[in-house]
Amino acid sequence: MVRAKKVLGLLGYQIGYSLSPVLHNTAFAHLELPYFYTLFEVYPPDLLRTALDGAKALGIVGFNVTTPYKERIVPYLDLLSAEASEVQAVNTILNQDGQWIGYNTDIVGFAEPLLPYQSHLDGSQVVVFGAGGAARAVVQALRQFFKPKHICLVARDESKAALLKEHFERRSKHLSLSTCALDAESLESVLASARVIINATPIGTESTALPQLKTMRLFPAEWKVWSAGKIAYDLVYRPLLTPFLHDAQTHGVTVISGLEMLLAQGAKSFEIWTGQTFPKDIVRTALLQQLSSVCP
Ligand code: NAP
Repeated sequence: MVRAKKVLGLLGYQIGYSLSPVLHNTAFAHLELPYFYTLFEVYPPDLLRTALDGAKALGIVGFNVTTPYKERIVPYLDLLSAEASEVQAVNTILNQDGQWIGYNTDIVGFAEPLLPYQSHLDGSQVVVFGAGGAARAVVQALRQFFKPKHICLVARDESKAALLKEHFERRSKHLSLSTCALDAESLESVLASARVIINATPIGTESTALPQLKTMRLFPAEWKVWSAGKIAYDLVYRPLLTPFLHDAQTHGVTVISGLEMLLAQGAKSFEIWTGQTFPKDIVRTALLQQLSSVCP
């Protein structure tokens, strides 16, 4: 007799690069849990609600949610955790007795690898590239776990960064935020005065669906941005050392790969779905092995 497995997956678009299936399936196999995790490409975006209704009918246990649906999915959920409600973005959902509960494990997942550098962050200038769902989680994490003096949000469409700024200004009088366009002349000096620079865009990702991203740069390599004591944190994890992190490392700067966040947020999602402790070290080894092989 075939023993049915409980199904989980990643909802998104152009997500062939994702390591989430390896991450979760390695953990399920290690703990001998009857779950299976796969990729669900949803397109066009109008089909998102239909996809969720179908998944509920099929008894799918839950999902991770990624680009471009982290914010778009919110109105279709039955309940939100306090953190997901605060940022109005969700990266994990659980089917609890036919109700979709939304969580945001990106917030703590982003914060965890930065916690050892708390003293670098407190009272410092921080630059965040991006104004999407992940950037929302990043700003919330900076606000919740650290005390930055100022955060500058950099986006190709500055009006989207301005919306994010307003969202957080409505919630916190003490948070100092500004915006900057990706092509602004002032960006070099903004980056030069920042202690921590974070990439929350897909720029630098190795992906066969979007090959142009791999060679794109957040800013020109010749800019004088790096100096001792800075931190570069890239949410992109494929490749492990993106062009952004490579440049930073060449200048002796501390770098944090998106792999650390992937593991930390994945561990929290895993615990929400299964109630079990995530075997982080086993999974890290499997992910590093996968990253040394060819991109799908
Ligand atoms: P999203 O909601 O689609 O937002 C992406 C952001 O990047 C938007 O501000 C978008 O600008 C900008 N962007 C996209 N392509 C760009 C380009 N070619 N040039 C300049 N800006 C560009 O995606 P997300 O969920 O925030 O995710 C962002 C990245 O973080 C993804 O690569 C994702 O894989 C990664 N991530 C990693 C982890 C992890 O665990 N390591 C967790 C979460 C996210 P527009 O709005 O103008 O399109």
